[in-house]
Amino acid sequence: MLELERLCEVCSSFFARGYAFGSTGNISIRIGDEVWITPTGGSLRKLAPTAIACIDMQGGARNEAKASKEYPFHLAAYQSAGAKANAIVHLHSTYAVALSCLDGLDEHQPLPVVTPYYLMRVAPVAVVPYFRPGSTELAGAIGEAARGHNTILLRNHGLVCLGSSLEEAVDRTEEFEETAKLYFLLRGEKLRCLTADQQAEIGRVFGRK
Ligand SMILES: [Zn+2]
Repeated sequence: MLELERLCEVCSSFFARGYAFGSTGNISIRIGDEVWITPTGGSLRKLAPTAIACIDMQGGARNEAKASKEYPFHLAAYQSAGAKANAIVHLHSTYAVALSCLDGLDEHQPLPVVTPYYLMRVAPVAVVPYFRPGSTELAGAIGEAARGHNTILLRNHGLVCLGSSLEEAVDRTEEFEETAKLYFLLRGEKLRCLTADQQAEIGRVFGRK
């Protein structure tokens, strides 16, 4: 299936560029009433389409491959987001995780609006409290956040991005990671953020997700 080949390409691209490392990260796509998700316990470095697990919306296996242990939050997010989400990227990328570990993080606006691209592709961001990876509490919190957000930062853990397509979820993830990187590069500097008018103009011209 072409979609699975594309999914495998995205995984190895994230690994090659250091967004994913070790056996961290999981990515899924929804096709009809099935979710195809990267397998448990392996690296995203070099996956074959036959290694991608297929599950139904209740988590029941539809093929031999074993789904990522984090599959419950993928299902919860798809169920909450409805038809607007067809792909989910979850990574432990360095700058997103660094941001998620900051004490005193502004949970309503974890990143300053320093570029229009952050506003177009990423914002608004939901911040979910820390819960054990793989827990039902984490799945519940992500499901709740996915009702109104496509970008979700998990405290002390990582990033979840939803997209109407795999490409959109990938773009959103990359833009978040680069904006978080900018934030750390600029920490301590006096920031020139977009004004309220400039932000409103982006909303008018490009729309907000
Ligand atoms: Zn994770």
